Amino acid sequence: MTANFVNHDANVIYLDGNSLGRLPAGAAAELQRTVEVEWGGELIDAWEHWIDEPLRLGDRLATVFLGAEPSSVVLADSTSVNFFKLAAAALDSRPDRRALVTDRHNFPTDRYILEGLALARGLEIRWVDVDPLYGPVASDLAQVLDDEVSLVTFSHVAYRSAAIADMAAINGAARAAGAMNLWDLSHSVGAIPIELAANGVDLAVGCTYKYLNGGPGSPAFLYVAPRLHQQLIQPVWGWFGQQNQFAMGQGYQPQNDIRRFLAGTPPIIALAATRAGIESLARIGMPALRRRSVALTERLIELAEARLFPLGFSLGSPREPELRGGHVLLRHPQARAISVGLRRQEQVIGDFREPDGLRLAPVAAYTTDAEVDEAVDRIHRHVATGAFEEYRDAGNRVT
Ligand SMILES: *Cc1c(COP(=O)(O)O)cnc(C)c1O
Repeated sequence: MTANFVNHDANVIYLDGNSLGRLPAGAAAELQRTVEVEWGGELIDAWEHWIDEPLRLGDRLATVFLGAEPSSVVLADSTSVNFFKLAAAALDSRPDRRALVTDRHNFPTDRYILEGLALARGLEIRWVDVDPLYGPVASDLAQVLDDEVSLVTFSHVAYRSAAIADMAAINGAARAAGAMNLWDLSHSVGAIPIELAANGVDLAVGCTYKYLNGGPGSPAFLYVAPRLHQQLIQPVWGWFGQQNQFAMGQGYQPQNDIRRFLAGTPPIIALAATRAGIESLARIGMPALRRRSVALTERLIELAEARLFPLGFSLGSPREPELRGGHVLLRHPQARAISVGLRRQEQVIGDFREPDGLRLAPVAAYTTDAEVDEAVDRIHRHVATGAFEEYRDAGNRVT
């Protein structure tokens, strides 16, 4: 599978594909074709087919990765903006309810956007203190759910611990209280199988530049269950959500389908790279990707237990593979310095997550067993020799 991705330096062990996926081998040619043939040659006529690209790629995601209905997913905007649009739409659909639920360990952009929405609407956020290792479970909701709650939102796979939330049980509890659910799939799409329709998901968003290899800042996706398409109105009333867009008429009248969750012109060049990313995984298929991912994370954890735990590391991810996503968090009091030192001295690229996590993602589509073994050797050397001490005050602007 590794031949399908560009690898400029075989000595670099890249374990950060959960933050920025590798460059698919076909992406540069796909970009060049889009630029030269479509933009250069077809010019504005290309909008005849470009205009449906967000829906076409959405359908591809729905079928291959999301277990979602046709015409229920579109690519647009960023995950942050889509999260805002869908959370606002959900809150506005239940104006009589005054509270929403999320957890303290949720990804920062989700938390901040909820804070902004709650402030603007005078709503209460009920923060759940979930287990940082195992993430949210349905029983966490017992104390916070009542008929005041309009929205329950969590990440499907925790960005720190990689815990997989029990989507079906949480949705069941939320629905019983009359609340909608909204899931952030950024760390699960392309890493683990997802069944949005079967699990009663109302709303979801996610990134395409992580496991889906769509390229830095590639457009995000959003999902709305078909039963809600005509009930929800998102707050960015752009012309791409308008019925009969090119009539350019007076007064916003949203489309009756998933397109009402669009706002403005899609980024066609970026979508070409995203397409290459999506196809790089679609060729392999989710069942094979998941099997490979579990084998890789198990291998990493077993080696870490044997060789790194004696050096002060411990596991910050669920030990049970069925409860764990595509990455592994190793905890160590000096994880920050170790993470920087590994990059600079050992060419092992992981990342640091507060307060004490070294996050490593052996990615099913391109990481080899030999790379996992070698990474553990290098981490062992780096920590056992105390080489990381030199990096105690160092840091990266972007971690
Ligand atoms: C990476 C990530 C994001 C990123 O959102 P952007 O708008 O692309 O910056 C959002 N949520 C989660 C859970 C993530 O892991």
